[in-house]
Amino acid sequence: MAEKIKRLALIGIGLIGSSIARGARQFGLADEIVVQSRRAETVKTAERLKLGDRYTTSAADASAGADLVIAAVPVGASGAVAKEIGPVLKPGAIVSDVGSVKESVIRQMQPHLPKRVHFVPAHPVAGTEHSGPEAGFAELFQNRWTILTPPEGTDPQAVERVKAFWMGLGANVDIMAPAHHDMVLAITSHVPHLIAYNIVGTAAHLGEVTETEVMKFAAGGFRDFTRIAASDPTMWRDVFLNNKPAVLEMLGRFTEDLTALQRAIRFGDGEALFDLFTRTRAIRRGIIEAGQETAAPDFGRPHKIEEG
Ligand code: NAP
Repeated sequence: MAEKIKRLALIGIGLIGSSIARGARQFGLADEIVVQSRRAETVKTAERLKLGDRYTTSAADASAGADLVIAAVPVGASGAVAKEIGPVLKPGAIVSDVGSVKESVIRQMQPHLPKRVHFVPAHPVAGTEHSGPEAGFAELFQNRWTILTPPEGTDPQAVERVKAFWMGLGANVDIMAPAHHDMVLAITSHVPHLIAYNIVGTAAHLGEVTETEVMKFAAGGFRDFTRIAASDPTMWRDVFLNNKPAVLEMLGRFTEDLTALQRAIRFGDGEALFDLFTRTRAIRRGIIEAGQETAAPDFGRPHKIEEG
């Protein structure tokens, strides 16, 4: 059983922050939960949902005296949060985050954090296309991966505490170098989201020509893309702006492979198409066999879960 956190401060209480709040409460991981959000309206919603014990719009007020502070705000806002909370953090406090990009978050936050605190960046690879405090649920992280990317020299005990916290929320925990995380997530999550945004954008454009046909026949594959393309615009804008080199590298490879497929279609190279589709089907089976996915319809999930 993980050592209980005395005071947990959540800076940002959207989908991820509110899921942490609900999970920490349900699984008994913190004595006290302080909830912060920049807009009074969001704080009010969090209060109505009873997500914490105390509520404030001030990140500094929320973080003062906290043992674990988790920033759950868009990646582009993490530097400003660190700047605000840095001066009030108590000695020995642990600061973490949930951002979908890690090198940029470390670059933004670390300079503002005093030597007396520990910094253990984290990324729960779990989410949905919904946002805000009402969208969260305690089981979001169950059996999903959370990746920790502690900068070199981070106190191993602080890493262990953050690991135990996430395991307490039901997650499996892996540790990675920040740059490696950003490369892996670029191909497994960021580029797939960009493809979804793009294909829905293209279809919407066509839709203006064919009127309702795009929506009328929006079955199978396209419908899944529309769900992913409904993901939060602020969050995803920040992901692409902050994981530029890795996303551009993976997009380059993707474009080359797409061009090869285009050629295969143009020249009637059925063998090339069949070979690729056979290999990708085997990859899917491998993922299911590794226990990371189920063959059940809608992946057997109670909620429609998407990686972030
Ligand atoms: P969300 O539901 O949209 O909630 C965002 C929270 O951040 C709200 O409390 C919002 O406050 C606050 N916020 C927004 N802009 C801000 C700014 N400029 N300065 C300070 N606070 C700001 O977002 P989320 O889905 O929980 O995502 C939060 C983080 O989790 C992001 O870094 C994202 O990369 C990461 N993540 C997301 C997913 C996913 O699938 N959604 C998965 C894994 C990780 P107000 O409501 O008061 O404006």
